[in-house]
Amino acid sequence: METIFPFPAGPAADVCREFLERDMRGARLSTSFRAYYLLRGLMPLRVRQFLQGKRNRGLAATPDWYLPQEFCDRLAVALQQSPAEAPPAWPDRREFAFVLTHDVETVEGLNQAMALADIEEELGFRSSWNLVPHKYPIDMGLISELRRRGFEIGVHGYNHDGKLFWSESTFRRRARAINAALDRFEAVGFRAPMAHRNLHWMQRLNIEYDSSCFDVDPYQAMPGGIGSLWPVVTGRFVELPYTLPQDHSLFIGLGETSDRIWEHKLAWIRRHSGMALMLTHPDYLETPARRAVYRNFLSQVRDVGGYWHALPRDLARWWRSAMERDHAANASARTMQTVAM
Ligand SMILES: [Zn+2]
Repeated sequence: METIFPFPAGPAADVCREFLERDMRGARLSTSFRAYYLLRGLMPLRVRQFLQGKRNRGLAATPDWYLPQEFCDRLAVALQQSPAEAPPAWPDRREFAFVLTHDVETVEGLNQAMALADIEEELGFRSSWNLVPHKYPIDMGLISELRRRGFEIGVHGYNHDGKLFWSESTFRRRARAINAALDRFEAVGFRAPMAHRNLHWMQRLNIEYDSSCFDVDPYQAMPGGIGSLWPVVTGRFVELPYTLPQDHSLFIGLGETSDRIWEHKLAWIRRHSGMALMLTHPDYLETPARRAVYRNFLSQVRDVGGYWHALPRDLARWWRSAMERDHAANASARTMQTVAM
């Protein structure tokens, strides 16, 4: 898989490659998670949430679990060795990129979509909506309406049963249906359910970007994290890692009632001139109190300013062309490298 890292060839790109390869090796389901997904369809939601809560408490993550500290420390050392290395500057010299995405888990979530879209539009933002093609009925009128208002539609897996990456043959079979859904929704973006991933197998998808990776997130079933606060060109698509913690982890897993962790992480990303990519679900922002937390966070971002706000589709296109331009410009620029599993 041909990969272009955010930094020109050198120590910083080496750090990015090391973390990406580590994530790709580690992104496997444990035996207990495979058993869980086999039985998941039979479990009531309350039982699933109890098991998730039990696991989250057992993880005993450190208080700043949402910061890619190890990656940023290693990157800082690498950049001291060659200070000229830097990721590409965002358009108009903005300090950071700000991207909003949603995964829609259920038909109830889909019914809540407009309430969130209204909040975003009122504050001058737009987002992408990743829909599951083979789980719940999808109102094509709603898709047209979201698109007409400047939102983007993406595809969220196949049927959300946790088995998309069960085997390569399962993935290959489902990839055909996912590609058909991409056509039907006129979509170019993808996120796998539960942040499961296999970047090699996913090369079969007709997408311009994927957003199944994350910088750091100890609460996911497939461990890992690519560390990077920037996109990475991975073969035929651009990988856009989500870099702000998921609403599910904060509100349901940890019982948070404010946006303090999002604000802290955003300040960190801004300091590093990175990409703040948010993944929330209308299914979990379903109460007025949680929607108020989300609205408050977006208001804070808008008031502080300094961001380049883009749909993931537009950011991915811009990123690929910036990377390829640098790559073509001269030998000292970003080098295309092959990543091993
Ligand atoms: Zn999902």
